[in-house]
Amino acid sequence: MSTQAAAEETAVVIGLEVHVQLETDTKIFCGCSTEPDDDEGPNTRTCPTCLGLPGALPVLNEGAVEAAVKIGKAIDADIPETTTFHRKNYYYPDLPKNFQITQYDAPICAGGSLDVEVESDRRTVGITRAHLEEDPGSLQHAGGSIESATHTLVNYNRAGTPLMEIVTEPDFRSPAETRAFLAKLSEVLEYLGVFDATRDGSLRVDANVSLVPADEVAADGSIPDAVLAGVNRAEVKNISSHRGAERALAYEVTRQRNRLRRGREIEQETRHWDEGRGVTVSMRSKEAEKDYRYFREADLPALEVSDWKARIPIPELPDARRERFREEYGLDREAASKLTSTKSVADFFEDVASEFDPDLAATWVADNLLGELNYREMEITDVEDRLDEFTRLIALVDGDEVTTKNAEEVVLRAMLDDGADPETVIDREGLGTADTGEVEAAVAAAIEENPDAVADYHDGDAGAINFLVGQVMAATGGSADPGQVNGLLRDRLDG
Ligand code: ADP
Ligand code: ZN
Ligand code: MG
Repeated sequence: MSTQAAAEETAVVIGLEVHVQLETDTKIFCGCSTEPDDDEGPNTRTCPTCLGLPGALPVLNEGAVEAAVKIGKAIDADIPETTTFHRKNYYYPDLPKNFQITQYDAPICAGGSLDVEVESDRRTVGITRAHLEEDPGSLQHAGGSIESATHTLVNYNRAGTPLMEIVTEPDFRSPAETRAFLAKLSEVLEYLGVFDATRDGSLRVDANVSLVPADEVAADGSIPDAVLAGVNRAEVKNISSHRGAERALAYEVTRQRNRLRRGREIEQETRHWDEGRGVTVSMRSKEAEKDYRYFREADLPALEVSDWKARIPIPELPDARRERFREEYGLDREAASKLTSTKSVADFFEDVASEFDPDLAATWVADNLLGELNYREMEITDVEDRLDEFTRLIALVDGDEVTTKNAEEVVLRAMLDDGADPETVIDREGLGTADTGEVEAAVAAAIEENPDAVADYHDGDAGAINFLVGQVMAATGGSADPGQVNGLLRDRLDG
């Protein structure tokens, strides 16, 4: 087999290690806040524990454990009787203790899976384990890049932020699948209320990538363990978004295929994703587990968690909610998807749907509101507390007190642009639907003032009626119902 053929007959294998910051008020082992201030200085949210000062002891944050248990339930993981913490030893300036407290042989979650939809194909991604650990601090290379910096500053404000590391099985067969998985994972984590995707650096990904001979892939997509273990793989670090993952992995797959094509070996190594240049670069040969000298963290006793799973409830998750929306409200797939995209959107929709016909509620939330918010780069969370104004607007439309067109194109937009309530906008713009007398007077005037159009109408010119409707709409400031105007005009012209 030529190397050219070898390169083409390979299948892509990817496994992910995803680090997510858990939304807790305080850090995982001390009382320091996890909430960055907009203008906070470096090393201000710190204490002896997260600075690693001698004698300072860790105290485990119950909220972080609860968040981990919620994640475990959502991915259907096994939660053990007891879970323990270990020290992972290495030197790096962002790690003041010279070890990271993490979990090793008794993680809080073992096994599990997450269903993902990729191009309307449903796939189940296996989750190997998920464990709790502390985030290190952050480094700032003075002068920009790590290569050109004259010195490096270190900030421990992030040190001790609770992280959940979620390790997947090597179940991905394309970069696009990893993107779909990450989107689904953050959706689920947001539903659980343990994660904020909008926070900078709240989701970081390391991706392992290898190529295996295509004929080792079984019809169901599985690959023998011996094959997976036998190939060299690159671990790509520093990926910080869903899109970044897809780009980094597409680059890495092409790089590995090109090497095979030229008859080269794939090294077992750690590579760095350079987002700006769109390339992965070699960092070092991959460290082995034994390099870390894992041992039990003696300052944290083993934690009994067997009854936590039963004790801690989780909300309805996106897939289940989507299904229920289709059944309960008769929504189509697309609308159900849109209306469950975040928990906040789904909650907002259900509040609206409790007062109106589901179709009307779906149109107003999915099409009108989300459309206008998207256009303004706003989120549902920006208008959540205006639910009442929004339902009043729909009630006004429903009661024919403002036309649908005006409500959509004028009132809703003004509500979002200047924060006015619907009644104020309708008053200010004179958009209340015209009463019948006013419309009839405008119809009479339009016929009177436009004898040419009337003659054209009688000559069978179909466009003439539209012109007359336009005249009436203008005269009533758009507040008449065009269908009704059309009818009134025809009644008079034909009568
Ligand atoms: P390590 O000890 O090197 O960290 P692990 O067994 O813990 O290796 O696996 C780390 C990640 O590598 C997991 O996400 C796993 O799915 C992935 N992985 C394992 N084998 C392969 C492979 N052949 N190709 C790509 N990813 C793989
Ligand atoms: Zn602290
Ligand atoms: Mg590992």
